[in-house]
Amino acid sequence: MQDFIQKIKNNEIDIVEHTHKIIKESKKINKEYNYFNTISEDLALEQAKELHKKIKNNDKEIKNKKLLGVAVSVKDNICVKNVESTAGSRILKGYKPLFDATVIKKAKEQGAIIIGKTAQDEFGFGSFSVNVGLGFKIPKNPFDKQRACGGSSGGAAGLSQVAEFPHIALGESTGGSIVEPASFCGVFGLCPTYGRVSRYGLIDYANSLDKIGPLGKNLYDSALLLETISGFDNNESTTINKPTENYTKSISNKIKNMKIGIIKESFKDIDKKIEKNIGNAIKTLEESGIKTQEISLKLPVEHGLSTYYILATSEASTSLAKYCGMRYGISDKLEGNFNEYFTKVRSHNLGQEAKRRIILGTFARMSGYRDAYYIKATKVRTKIVNEYKKMFRKFDALISPTAPILPPKFSEIEKLSPLQNYMMDIMTVSPNVAGLPHLNVPVGFENKLPVGMLMTADHLQESKLIQLGSVFQ
Ligand code: GLN
Repeated sequence: MQDFIQKIKNNEIDIVEHTHKIIKESKKINKEYNYFNTISEDLALEQAKELHKKIKNNDKEIKNKKLLGVAVSVKDNICVKNVESTAGSRILKGYKPLFDATVIKKAKEQGAIIIGKTAQDEFGFGSFSVNVGLGFKIPKNPFDKQRACGGSSGGAAGLSQVAEFPHIALGESTGGSIVEPASFCGVFGLCPTYGRVSRYGLIDYANSLDKIGPLGKNLYDSALLLETISGFDNNESTTINKPTENYTKSISNKIKNMKIGIIKESFKDIDKKIEKNIGNAIKTLEESGIKTQEISLKLPVEHGLSTYYILATSEASTSLAKYCGMRYGISDKLEGNFNEYFTKVRSHNLGQEAKRRIILGTFARMSGYRDAYYIKATKVRTKIVNEYKKMFRKFDALISPTAPILPPKFSEIEKLSPLQNYMMDIMTVSPNVAGLPHLNVPVGFENKLPVGMLMTADHLQESKLIQLGSVFQ
């Protein structure tokens, strides 16, 4: 990546020609794998031409651009100015934001080329990117087209594996949507601390959980993009006002006196082949001088899922209330009173899973049930945070498999009940509920399918994760 950026800076690679090539390549990839909802050809070329002028004029600005010429794909729920941004939902068809999300603004300022919007579960509701909105295509696993990419940032993860040009993806996670697809597609996925990266311009799923983060074939690429997008934002009140770090540097930091906890409960009922691969990865860590110890993390593993699905659906049911067919995206013939119109637009244009979550979430926060479900879940959430915090007094990071199974076939997913679907997130929801940074590291292959390991660290300890992940680079 560094090499490529330098060549662009020196005009040894012509940025316009290169951009033409990657757009062509992206179209080809898309025909085969459905990774894009939109390819932003016009924007990419316009950006390339503008940068080209500056490169030719030896503009001082160019020297410092960290992502010059690098293709960045964007999960479809992140707003890009003038590019259709639907969060994978038909209800947002035709919505072209009037502004860039902060992460896009920052990436553009560093010379990144925005190549398109990647496929996802509708609004992020899913673990396999099969719950796409009406009329959208399902992305296919790069290692076997009969299998899922994982979700909900499925297009981002698949493209990160398949693209042969320098590329980094912007994904988003509410309950695991960066690390889980990264695991299924064999790439690095880094979900930062809640508040480290601005969500201004993110089409929200659940506000107390959503985070934007990078996915990349190399750890360096993910670190580079994180470095670019993190930091305080005046437009986003949950961003943390602490200086950003030089994450790419953490890769070469020497590992000294580090201790990792291996979460015992995470190995219960998982595919034995996954267990074997994680076992080997733990050995590799030990050989690098890292101390390991088995630990118990009962509450987060056993109650993470129920807590998460109550909180996430409650928030989703309110987040989606704004889609009434009048303000954003799709509209219909104005007939009947407001409720009739609203109901018609939503019934026709939201998918089944979105409807299920609106109903579940509305139920959980209704007066009469609020104390029993929503309020209780917020209390368990605090307990989960405390249990993690206790662990981080002793350990630098905690380890588990990222997913309990190998990437499943589409035909197998069809047979899963909604509850079995939600079970896929068993290891990924709790770090999200606690707002902790976590990283998927590809650690091996089984039956030609990738296996991922999940590393979770304390708040704002992204650099520790990057340092540990570099053992597998
Ligand atoms: N699979 C989880 C869900 O469906 C997480 C998805 C996400 O992080 N967006 O809610």
